[in-house]
Amino acid sequence: LYREVVMDHYKKPRNRGTMTDAAVVVEGANPLCGDEITLWLDIEKDIVKDVRFAGHGCSISQASASIMTSAIKGQPVEEITRIVTAFRGMMLDGAEPDEDLLGDGIALEGVKKFPVRIKCAVLGWNTLLLGLKEFSESGGKPVEASHQE
Ligand code: ZN
Repeated sequence: LYREVVMDHYKKPRNRGTMTDAAVVVEGANPLCGDEITLWLDIEKDIVKDVRFAGHGCSISQASASIMTSAIKGQPVEEITRIVTAFRGMMLDGAEPDEDLLGDGIALEGVKKFPVRIKCAVLGWNTLLLGLKEFSESGGKPVEASHQE
């Protein structure tokens, strides 16, 4: 079942595309696997009103980015920080999966069985985290950033 959720996001990615006049444009790369993601965020009054992603790479990296955009769209930045922390905790620290926060994200827990693929799964989420951090530090001015796993 979890595998099906991941394949569904890979074959029918949510929020795929680009955006003009985004508050945040952030690129992420995982050279070990050749995964690349670019994220665009439209942020208004501390709410991520809209999000788009583009990229290429393995099915886990692209499905995970699709799952991440579904989890954060329309959410306040504070809530998004909780969501990303829960995902990173599940993938990196053995925390119990929190379905209320993660939604389809819990489907990626099985990736932990393949340690070399964990970077593929966290790429989109870490890229998002850097974009939000840079935006916060800019005082709300549009930012561009890049992240490498
Ligand atoms: Zn990968």
